[in-house]
Amino acid sequence: MNNYRLKEQLESLAKSLGLAKIRFLPAEDLPEWENEVKVRSQADATAKAYWEKRNYSGNYKNIMKDAKSFVIAAFPYMPAKDSRDLNAPYLDPHYLAYPKGRAAVFELANMLKEQGFKALVDPPLPIKLIAYKSGIGLFGKNGLVYNREEGSFMSLHLLLTDATFPYTSHYNETISDCGTCRLCIDTCPNNAIGEKGRVCMSKCLRHYMLTSEIIPINIRERMGMRFIGCGDCRIVCPKNAIKFKRTNIKQADYFKLDIGEILENHSNLKEYLKGLAKVIGKNLARPIPIISMAIIAAGNSKDKAFVKGLTETLFHWHPTIRAHSAWALARLADNSALDSLNNALSRESEHLVTSEIEAAIKKLARL
Ligand code: SF4
Ligand code: SF4
Repeated sequence: MNNYRLKEQLESLAKSLGLAKIRFLPAEDLPEWENEVKVRSQADATAKAYWEKRNYSGNYKNIMKDAKSFVIAAFPYMPAKDSRDLNAPYLDPHYLAYPKGRAAVFELANMLKEQGFKALVDPPLPIKLIAYKSGIGLFGKNGLVYNREEGSFMSLHLLLTDATFPYTSHYNETISDCGTCRLCIDTCPNNAIGEKGRVCMSKCLRHYMLTSEIIPINIRERMGMRFIGCGDCRIVCPKNAIKFKRTNIKQADYFKLDIGEILENHSNLKEYLKGLAKVIGKNLARPIPIISMAIIAAGNSKDKAFVKGLTETLFHWHPTIRAHSAWALARLADNSALDSLNNALSRESEHLVTSEIEAAIKKLARL
């Protein structure tokens, strides 16, 4: 089979799998990306650690010596109409779309492998830069790639392969047409977006979500009810207005993020997480990060109905859950939690948790 035919077959399979755009471009080194990482790493230790841990590279030969092409595809999805409801736990639809887009791209990789080619899905290369170079979209000041049809509601997926294709240049010299708009900059709850459109990783709420770590208090406070992802800089973007006009989905249609249920069943969340894993994948639907996010959302909810559940998670085996529970109880400002906090303090041996419980007791005792 010649590679014209293979390209057509990949395009046709991509379409049938719901991938809105697929582009083929010759593999190339990306020194501009390496320079950008240097600049960002110097300014932000969190970004430095992030890039080092993931071993990302601007040099594709470090990953596949004889690679010839980048195949990049975009998997579109719809936002929820009520995305701006700041009183309900927010689930960013990107987390639902990503596993589906990735599964679709694995099928493309299988087709290449069946033809005797190598194909690596989502190699550690700068995917957004490659998407821009392929003509899939332009960069927004919020660091996301958008285009006219999908806005930035699309997940991007990359294949690195030793196959060659007939390439068409879609290169666009304009890197962004945001112009004077600065809605995302002004909306970001933690001022993470710089004037030149550089997102500071250590300020971006998304960076702290769904981990098992104790999250800094100022970040917890700003998370509000954002539970899985923070979509503010995407939701306000005028490039996405077209998607909001077309959607009829509601947040609850994705999955019911029920804070009360998570707190109440924190010691046995197997069934709940099984359901959530079907939506966002097993890797993200892990008990400690999900309980941790539920506690933060409860603390920010102003809803004292969560106090009872939090006095139980205060005795959880994991220190992060205990620390966040003490903070959430103080934030809900209900001094009926004082007995539980004093009891927890008498049993606590982790220094970081002790200081959170002491701070909570001090705050509630003043009420
Ligand atoms: S994801 Fe949220 S915190 Fe991060 S840059 Fe966008 S608005 Fe700011
Ligand atoms: S909100 Fe405005 S500045 Fe930000 S990405 Fe969208 S168009 Fe660009």
